[in-house]
Amino acid sequence: MSITFDSLALGEPLQRALRDRDYTTPSPIQEATIPLVLDGHDVMGCAQTGTGKTAAFALPILEHLTQNPRERVRKAPRVLVIAPTRELAAQIGQSFTDYGKHLPFDSAVVFGGVGKNPQIRAMSRGPEVLVATPGRLLDLMNQGHINLRHLEVFVIDEADRMLDMGFIHDVRKIIRELPEQRQSLFFSATMPRSIIDLSRTILKNPQHVEVTPPATTVEKIDQRLCHVAKSQKRELLDHLLSQRENGLTLVFSGTKHGANRIVEQLSKAGLSAAAIHGNKSQGARERALGDFRSGRIRILVATDIAARGIDVKGIDLVVNYDLPKEPDSYVHRIGRTARAGAEGRAVSFCDELSHSLLQGIERCIRGEIPVDRDHPYHQEPTTAMRNAKAQPQGGNRGGGGRNSRNGGGARRSRPQGRRGAPSRGRAA
Ligand code: AMP
Repeated sequence: MSITFDSLALGEPLQRALRDRDYTTPSPIQEATIPLVLDGHDVMGCAQTGTGKTAAFALPILEHLTQNPRERVRKAPRVLVIAPTRELAAQIGQSFTDYGKHLPFDSAVVFGGVGKNPQIRAMSRGPEVLVATPGRLLDLMNQGHINLRHLEVFVIDEADRMLDMGFIHDVRKIIRELPEQRQSLFFSATMPRSIIDLSRTILKNPQHVEVTPPATTVEKIDQRLCHVAKSQKRELLDHLLSQRENGLTLVFSGTKHGANRIVEQLSKAGLSAAAIHGNKSQGARERALGDFRSGRIRILVATDIAARGIDVKGIDLVVNYDLPKEPDSYVHRIGRTARAGAEGRAVSFCDELSHSLLQGIERCIRGEIPVDRDHPYHQEPTTAMRNAKAQPQGGNRGGGGRNSRNGGGARRSRPQGRRGAPSRGRAA
């Protein structure tokens, strides 16, 4: 029997906000994390986006603020959440607004790529909650617009992606500014050694919560591999997409320029698409995402970093136009489809130069992706291609043991030794 939100010690205004959203049952990460956070523990959570982890920290944090009223202090938030991308920061900020809609608290979101003045004005009002990407946060801290002296709760979300994106120095600088006395919550989808080391500099006697990545979700995805010459990937993509009438497609490109080129080429073929990557202005990214969400455009071409945290229901096809350089990203990418229990398809293109990447991915998922030989651009790989020397892969460098899940699952490194709550699966 699963528990309901009513049995968690969350006040009426939060319960009402949950009812407004038709949430009745906490997800496993929420069930495990909310009581720990309410009890004041530090938490190390191993969970992906899509498991309900935002509410797992936002709800008990809002409850903490309610139970411990305090005067607002200009520029000095009581809660800081750092996240690797603007999109994720914006989504988290929105969650605090939604869950806290019957409470008197204010939140602000700061990230780069947009003007600072509105963010500076927002901070001067003294919001209780600040959600930020690391670079802009430091910038505003250095200019005296934000101080963290009164911080009570610190959250780091998608810590693994934060390190992958090279934010480690910024994160360390932020940590140095935090008061010693605080509660810290740390979330990451994977737990390589570098993440465990970082968590140790932040957390005190943490409780560990682990949620198996939505295994059922990944298993539900119909995964296919297309061997194709690099020079024919465009044609293959046109072929694949022009056969589709409905549904949303997310295409992954290895580079920003590549993403732009794919969009141009698709529009020449009469297919309207938009690109989303780090070189696009915030406005352009939000527009593209909004158009995609509403179904006005049915194809979004993204780089890994820009796609992180995108939670769009209705994506039923993910295309890996370029295979990811990090095997873990394969699971993150294909997990963008088959959300909320729906079924999805993931098609990956492997060209003559990408076999070492394919090997890394198949090692990671501990299985072979079934090959589709029926498309018109199939190119059977030669033995020389197949034997291409595997490149060293990023991702879970030096992490603990692997934990494979049946078939198309993800692997995960675990913190060595301690673990708190048992792993629990959830079809997100
Ligand atoms: P997250 O992992 O925080 O990005 O959440 C993934 C999605 O699940 C979001 O669209 C949330 O709004 C939704 N969600 C979170 N918690 C629940 C819940 N307990 N019941 C139903 N939906 C939820």
